[in-house]
Amino acid sequence: AKTDGKRTWRLYRDELHQEMIRRLEMRSALVEAVPGDQMRLRYQPIVDLPTGEMIGLEALVRWQHPLRGLLGPNEFIELSEENGSVVAIGGWVLREALETFAGWRAAPGGGSLKYISVNVSARQFRAPGFVDQVREVLAETGARPEWLLLEITESLVLHDADQVWADLRELRAMGIRIAIDDFGTGYSSLSYLSQMPVDVLKIDKSFIDDILHSAQQMALVETIVSLARTLELNVVAEGIELDGHRAALAAMGCPYGQGYLFSKPVTADEIGARLGISTTG
Ligand code: C2E
Ligand code: CA
Ligand code: CA
Ligand code: CA
Repeated sequence: AKTDGKRTWRLYRDELHQEMIRRLEMRSALVEAVPGDQMRLRYQPIVDLPTGEMIGLEALVRWQHPLRGLLGPNEFIELSEENGSVVAIGGWVLREALETFAGWRAAPGGGSLKYISVNVSARQFRAPGFVDQVREVLAETGARPEWLLLEITESLVLHDADQVWADLRELRAMGIRIAIDDFGTGYSSLSYLSQMPVDVLKIDKSFIDDILHSAQQMALVETIVSLARTLELNVVAEGIELDGHRAALAAMGCPYGQGYLFSKPVTADEIGARLGISTTG
């Protein structure tokens, strides 16, 4: 048993060591990822719940790592926040998403699309010149500000309020809309929420998961939906996987949703094909 314990410890130590090396490698590789052309975008439809029609899209980043293959954001966004590479990554995402969306809008089949949602990390938002960068990218891509929905987290709106709120107001004055992502997982108070310069609440998947099995969860989501209505905010439910979820949310008057029931995140070509837009040639 004693030697077993030793072996277990050694294994554990080696694993920790491997993990440290892996993180160090990822960290430096991330700095090269944008100039190295390694970032990709996937697009997940956002639908009108009563009709199921696709009205918008959320851009979701992936990293085509030269050795490890296609990585999801949960494997690198936190690291990129830590070493600051998220600023370059986020800038690339914004430009790529708006350029692609402007292309869809210009095509005959793209007129029904109302907006593109882009995630902005706290560090990226706070970086000097963020608002100017957004203005520039809009001008360069020919995208209209009304087409852009920026998704930020509750914690960004709660902390550092003065500068962040001023920037949010400036973005909204330009015609851009702001969503609070993963709403309900943070700590915003009701009175605070009513004053926040935002337009949309995105209800986190963790709230949707159990609505069919828990009357309490159902009531909670209903409360968020009616709260949004009272505050004249739009609301999008995320993580809709079952038709039962869709039906329940539609019945409580939740206007918009997103989830695997409608579509997983897919490539730009796939969205183009669904819109009847040819991308060859
Ligand atoms: P999020 O903003 O909450 O995005 C939704 C996530 O849930 C996406 O994961 C999406 O693929 C997944 N999802 C959507 N519908 C369903 C469903 O029905 N079932 C399940 N199980 N999952 C669903 P993804 O693409 O792995 O992104 C994870 C997170 O990474 C995002 O969560 C967002 O916080 C962050 N992220 C993604 N792209 C970017 C980006 O460009 N910049 C920044 N800063 N963060 C990003
Ligand atoms: Ca999001
Ligand atoms: Ca979300
Ligand atoms: Ca989420």
